[in-house]
Amino acid sequence: MIDHLPLPPRCSVLIVGAGIQGLSLAFSLAERGVRDILVLDAGYWQGGASGRNGTLIRGAFSSSEWTHFFAHSNRLWLGLSRRLGENVMYSRRGYSMIGERDSTAELLQRTREVHRECGIDSQLLDPAQLRHVLPALAHERVSAALHLPDSGVAPHHAAMYAFRKACERLGVRIEYRTRVDAVDHSAGRVSGVRVGQQRIQADTVVLAGGADSNALAQMAGVPLEGYPMRLEAMALEPTRPLIGPAVALLDRLCYMHQTARGEVVGGAEVAERPQDSLAADVPVMAATARAYLEMFPQLGQARILRQWAGLVHISPDFGPMLGAHPRVPGLFISAGWCYGHAGAPAAGDLLARAIVEGVVDERMQPFAVDRFERGCPVVEPGIVLSHFE
Ligand SMILES: Cc1cc2nc3c(=O)[nH]c(=O)nc-3n(C[C@H](O)[C@H](O)[C@H](O)COP(=O)(O)OP(=O)(O)OC[C@H]3O[C@@H](n4cnc5c(N)ncnc54)[C@H](O)[C@@H]3O)c2cc1C
Repeated sequence: MIDHLPLPPRCSVLIVGAGIQGLSLAFSLAERGVRDILVLDAGYWQGGASGRNGTLIRGAFSSSEWTHFFAHSNRLWLGLSRRLGENVMYSRRGYSMIGERDSTAELLQRTREVHRECGIDSQLLDPAQLRHVLPALAHERVSAALHLPDSGVAPHHAAMYAFRKACERLGVRIEYRTRVDAVDHSAGRVSGVRVGQQRIQADTVVLAGGADSNALAQMAGVPLEGYPMRLEAMALEPTRPLIGPAVALLDRLCYMHQTARGEVVGGAEVAERPQDSLAADVPVMAATARAYLEMFPQLGQARILRQWAGLVHISPDFGPMLGAHPRVPGLFISAGWCYGHAGAPAAGDLLARAIVEGVVDERMQPFAVDRFERGCPVVEPGIVLSHFE
């Protein structure tokens, strides 16, 4: 712990983790009138995955469950600057899902149907339309392209700053460099946390610890599925505008977008043994570079400018684990986030509603914390991730 004002002996809601999940929840709670919210983070400002991501906001996926949830989040993103009173710099540049295999083309056709049923605007692009939307793409490799005009990107630094400022304006107290060491129970429910020797009582404790979610759940005495996983990204040196929308190359587990500065930012996933290193990994960079080069040959001229990695928590079905813990009153979880930047506004909104009103919204219900023990995973085939076998 570093110098800061003494921590209070009690609060109403204590959130462990001040990444975008913890901050979005704190804001949504404060907006609903909850006072005495305390957010504690062991690390530094934006030190977790929330300061290290690819910044893509995908407004829909391939399953109806993910699509309903992320479409709600995308709608909230569109109005977030006004709500927070700070510019989150959302750029609604669209998002194209690209398939190369015939089986992926079929998936994208089914995905279009799901979007239609969910009321989401998406379009299967014919070759002429694809050339218009993504002129630099190696079209001869593409079997199908599904375009979502309402999705986009929002830089994580702008979003994190906006959430933090808005929280502070509403009186939320946020402390970094403050590790929670234990979760206390009393009379069969969660009663607070300990920071070193200090006890902080709380009516509600929310674990939003990102990659440390398993360790935190263990502190709270509950099992939690999933494991920490490293994701890596890189930026290419600026080039002239080549890529308009955000792009997912589904068959290559690869995503990218081009920033306003002209840098192409993104990554490709290579199944790695779970690890906690944030060091550069040549095989991952090579796989990303190969995917870029084969699909956007003009990027062959650009050099890699920088690389970084971050750790996320991955659940068995890649979906978030969100809601009240079914057996420990007072304990709530926000974990399993591999698309937690995109999902943060909806997660904050729906989890705050569950905490304040006790209502489990139907968009959140499929992602219940105990779905694996009930045998109810959510199947989502349209993501660019794979489990380590
Ligand atoms: C390279 C990369 C690319 C990505 N690209 C995208 C993308 O394009 N779109 C997208 O939507 N998502 C993306 N993600 C995922 C996204 O960044 C995460 O899902 C999201 O940031 C998770 O937010 P969080 O608040 O749960 O976790 P974090 O931001 O990791 O925050 C968790 C916090 O909990 C704190 N903590 C842990 N243990 C304790 C403790 N004992 N006491 C106190 N504090 C504790 C940590 O210090 C940490 O700050 C990407 C991630 C990476 C790494």
